[in-house]
Amino acid sequence: MEAKEFKVRWVMAIDIDKCTGCGACMVACQAENNLAPVEDASFKLRVMNWLVVYELSNKQPFPDHDIAYLPRPCMQCGNPPCVSVCPVIATDKNEEGGIVSQVTPRCIGCRYCMAACPYHARYFNWFDPSWPEGMEKVLTPDVSVRPRGVVEKCTFCHHRFMQAKDKAIVEGRDPEALNDGDYVTSCAEACPNGAIVFGDVNNPDHAVYELARSQYACRLLERLHADPQVYYISRREWVRRQLDNYLENEQVKG
Ligand code: SF4
Ligand code: SF4
Repeated sequence: MEAKEFKVRWVMAIDIDKCTGCGACMVACQAENNLAPVEDASFKLRVMNWLVVYELSNKQPFPDHDIAYLPRPCMQCGNPPCVSVCPVIATDKNEEGGIVSQVTPRCIGCRYCMAACPYHARYFNWFDPSWPEGMEKVLTPDVSVRPRGVVEKCTFCHHRFMQAKDKAIVEGRDPEALNDGDYVTSCAEACPNGAIVFGDVNNPDHAVYELARSQYACRLLERLHADPQVYYISRREWVRRQLDNYLENEQVKG
């Protein structure tokens, strides 16, 4: 199925060769989106991280050994498999920028969307949120706190999109034509190496326009045709090969 085209398409371009795996983006995401700490973070199936940094390896022995880090947010797919399976329309593809929403008050916790997502980008909330004393004072006011029993996921910090549009309106600018940098996700802002760039891929004035069109850009499991709005850039062929599970003799882009 062909993905629907939007005038504005918010996209993340992640340069894997710049990522050191420090995890600053993960921490920024947790703090910005009011993700409560869980008691036992080693319980991987119950822990909640909207953005996860994975380690990749070329599996070669020394001296050819090489590793890379892959930050994985929700891909905001153009053809989101999670949307069509939801029985209560608690998730939808937003026509304003193509962000896939998650309406948690509507979610009944059936977890069909989790089963449908090929990127494991959705998380079931097993616990009532609770913060260490004092931390509840620094929650982000524009992000609602979710109860136990619903599914959550990365929203490309959608509340920041709303804030950027409000600011443009107050300043007499067109909210449908934001400048590069007006709306940036918290992970992109926090990355000390500038590995994550965010913007409108349809606007030649935004940095992601060129990055997404680089010969070294590819998308995770592109062959599934989910049409992700996250591009990965790496000059290393073995990295691009792993991102799409290329077979031994298959041609890799670039
Ligand atoms: S990455 Fe998963 S949760 Fe995000 S839009 Fe795609 S299918 Fe849905
Ligand atoms: S903050 Fe930047 S360098 Fe650190 S893990 Fe995330 S993308 Fe990589």
